[in-house]
Amino acid sequence: MERTLSLIKPDAVFRNLTGAINSRFEQAGLRIIAQKRLLLTKSQAEKFYEIHRERAFYGSLCGYMSSAPIVAQILCGKNAVSKNRELMGATNPANAEIGTIRRDFGEGVERNAVHGSDSLENAVLEIGFFFSELEIIE
Ligand code: UDP
Ligand code: MG
Repeated sequence: MERTLSLIKPDAVFRNLTGAINSRFEQAGLRIIAQKRLLLTKSQAEKFYEIHRERAFYGSLCGYMSSAPIVAQILCGKNAVSKNRELMGATNPANAEIGTIRRDFGEGVERNAVHGSDSLENAVLEIGFFFSELEIIE
């Protein structure tokens, strides 16, 4: 069993897609073992995406991610990290496979509906960024 961090991004939360996206996870056998709605500050978004700080899109991405509420959640299941990345699809919704969350719900390369940890190592760090053990009920 693995845990991975998922974020439903402002574009999808605003369009009331939280339930539709959650049902993709649940239908694929991933269990939502923690979940909360929150509004990041710009500096919190900058810290979360620090790995991308040299990239041209960093400033815009952090502005966007702190512009409106997100839903942070922990998904648990067999191969949760890679399974979630498959469900999400490619970063740019235009390149994502049909039936993936980003293809079906993303609005563009930045406003692409969801974030998912890209490795088990990063999942541990990202879960720790958003949740304490007290909030995680398996
Ligand atoms: N992003 C962007 N422009 C790009 C690449 C990425 O705005 O050219 C945004 C997009 O929201 C993406 C996030 O930055 O989800 C993090 O990028 P990463 O390469 O880690 O993609 P992901 O792991 O989310 O697929
Ligand atoms: Mg990434």
